[in-house]
Amino acid sequence: MSDAKQPNIIFIMSDDHAAHAISAYGSRINETPNLDRIANDGMRLDNCFCTNSICAPSRAAILTGKYNHMNGVRTLHENIDASQQHVAKILQENNYQTAMIGKWHLGHGGNSNPTGFDYWNIFPGQGEYHDPVMIEMGEKKKFSGYATDITVDLCLDWLDERDEDRPFFMMCHHKAPHRPWMPDEKHMHLYEDIDIPEPETFNDDYATRTYAAQGAEMRVDRDLTSWDVKGEPPEGLSPAERKSWYYQRYIKDYLRCIASIDDNVGRLLDYLDEKGLTEDTIVMYTSDQGFFLGDHGWYDKRFMYEESLRMPFLIRYPKGIKAGTTQNAFALNVDFAQTFLDYAGIEAPEDMQGTSLRPILEGETPADWQSSMYYRYWEHMSEHNVPAHYGVRTHQYKLICYYGEGLGVPGAKDIKMDPEWELYDLEKDPNELNNVYSNPDYQEVIEKLKEELYRLKDKVKDFD
Ligand code: CA
Repeated sequence: MSDAKQPNIIFIMSDDHAAHAISAYGSRINETPNLDRIANDGMRLDNCFCTNSICAPSRAAILTGKYNHMNGVRTLHENIDASQQHVAKILQENNYQTAMIGKWHLGHGGNSNPTGFDYWNIFPGQGEYHDPVMIEMGEKKKFSGYATDITVDLCLDWLDERDEDRPFFMMCHHKAPHRPWMPDEKHMHLYEDIDIPEPETFNDDYATRTYAAQGAEMRVDRDLTSWDVKGEPPEGLSPAERKSWYYQRYIKDYLRCIASIDDNVGRLLDYLDEKGLTEDTIVMYTSDQGFFLGDHGWYDKRFMYEESLRMPFLIRYPKGIKAGTTQNAFALNVDFAQTFLDYAGIEAPEDMQGTSLRPILEGETPADWQSSMYYRYWEHMSEHNVPAHYGVRTHQYKLICYYGEGLGVPGAKDIKMDPEWELYDLEKDPNELNNVYSNPDYQEVIEKLKEELYRLKDKVKDFD
């Protein structure tokens, strides 16, 4: 531990909040003034990616600083063994008061209960939006009110009761804006009289893509249910009108849930101001992965495509991060744990697999900084019918391999398919509409990317 004063760390994470629904990221569809406060007073990362775009696995990667084949949570069907080493345990052992409040989603009971936290109070599983049951230090309790408000109420209560002489690490994890997108009273009528713009790729026909995009069951017009959109479309609509109707119903509720998150981020920031904690506290906002907001005609995530791969990442630390800055160096969810430890002046254990983001947050990107990333989705052909895949993304390219089997992983289906590849030139085709894997002009690029893919796969010890 260094002699420097250890900063407080507040890690705010929502569930399925895509960066393109944050105004600091240039959202065309909503305003998030309080999230923007974090960006304006600190830094926005433009290339932060998850290593597996699905809830529990991303949460496990954040906590342990390890890829999913190492931390044991490859799919939604594997609970965490929380007896393993992770960042909260290390911080707790090094002077920090620690709390985990809200959505844990790594299983509960036995070895899956949160460890390393002085205080924890979690939603079981996905949790409920209204009047949620929570598990407080192992004991079930019913709360009345809206999950997003309750989560922050509990955070503020815990902060009030903490020991002011020691630093704190608080994980504030919202259930929202996860499906089924249920807003609170206050925001129920937001956007009622307007149409939310449809994304550029709304009518993607998947023409150049493999079976993966064509077969995915996450289409706004075909796969959203009346439960999702809380009603049935009016009769007599054309197919295009019907699709637009579903999109409006879906996206408005999604954005209403986010409006409540934004208000509650504001409450937390105001609290820090009132208590004189702003200068000494790192505040970070992210989401466990991205989400399709009608992009490619879809909702949900799982794919290595940009909208689901990208995580929002806003961070403020007046003492160490310059206000109003942005950074396009690569950052990964497996890097967060080591970043927290670095700021706390604690050396990371050897077996963590990420890199502290501190240099890039301080605006000094080392010459050898990571410029490629490894991705792997394991939950072959389960809900939403997305095949397992791995891939590599660089600043210019993305190569994806749908390898065509479940490999006996819990939650993956035992269905064999022919492997298929996709390549995107992100400079020419940022929307990933044009798979150029068979284009002769890219054969050399493909060879190099395959080498890089297998190098990364080895580096992270994914030896299946
Ligand atoms: Ca999620």
